[in-house]
Amino acid sequence: MSSKEQGARFTEMMAAFVAHTAKKLPDDVIAKLTELRSKENSPMAKVIYDTMFRNQELAVKLSRPSCQDTGVLQFWVKCGTRFPLIDDLEALLKEAVVKATFEAPLRHNSVETFDEYNTGKNVGKGTPTVWWDIVPHADTCEIYTYMAGGGCTLPGQAMVLMPGEGYEGVTKFVLDRMTTYGLNACPPLLVGVGVATSVETAALLSKKALMRPIGSRNPNERAAKMERLLEDGINAIGLGPQGMGGSYSVMGVHIENTARHPSAIGVAVNVGCWSHRRGHIIFDKDLRYTITSHSGVTL
Ligand code: SF4
Repeated sequence: MSSKEQGARFTEMMAAFVAHTAKKLPDDVIAKLTELRSKENSPMAKVIYDTMFRNQELAVKLSRPSCQDTGVLQFWVKCGTRFPLIDDLEALLKEAVVKATFEAPLRHNSVETFDEYNTGKNVGKGTPTVWWDIVPHADTCEIYTYMAGGGCTLPGQAMVLMPGEGYEGVTKFVLDRMTTYGLNACPPLLVGVGVATSVETAALLSKKALMRPIGSRNPNERAAKMERLLEDGINAIGLGPQGMGGSYSVMGVHIENTARHPSAIGVAVNVGCWSHRRGHIIFDKDLRYTITSHSGVTL
């Protein structure tokens, strides 16, 4: 395949994958929602979960997005320096988003800031967002896709705490966001928490935390314990599915961290809704692909 043909094939596959993620949730999200449905006892919670599963069935059957808000597209790319399409990757991803917007179809969610017009294609200045990790000497490309909807983006916040506020301060910060804005994000939520030095380092980690599979734990055992404690604390708020009350408010809490300056605790929270449209695909240098997030997909 020539480089031009490879680019066209990559665009086609990424457009199809993005469209698929709008219509079918990842396997781990479906498994978690199934588990939470079986654990809720209130009739209201059961009706809401039944409606969510009916929505999922119909989205696949009718080939339509399962939520009207298909979000702003965000990509986390871990790309080898020897991956053949590395030079054109951002442009190809942009093209794939435009293609998916018309073919899926996806809602038009890219409004040019200050000029205040909708581009009508889901792309604009800096959208889709692409974050890069470069992997020296490798020839593969790993891509996480994410649809950042309005409601689930709303609870996001970052700040720097005084060092004396400690882990109690981190807990208070997260719980304050959950009790004020958690409701807006269509629970049960996946909560990403970043703990680092500054607002931008913590914020990026809090979003990256949402790419982890549900049920995974931070490798540091103290951080993993805090994940479990935060899950218990947020569940105790009693948001339940769609915020209508229930025993479970979260699908999980994921903490990502780095070392930090001793005089500062940067903390951030980011939230994924029940319709957590995250995809994960890995390409080799010949564009053979492996999809780990969704089973049974052929692009
Ligand atoms: S929070 Fe999620 S499920 Fe709710 S409207 Fe937004 S994208 Fe859709």
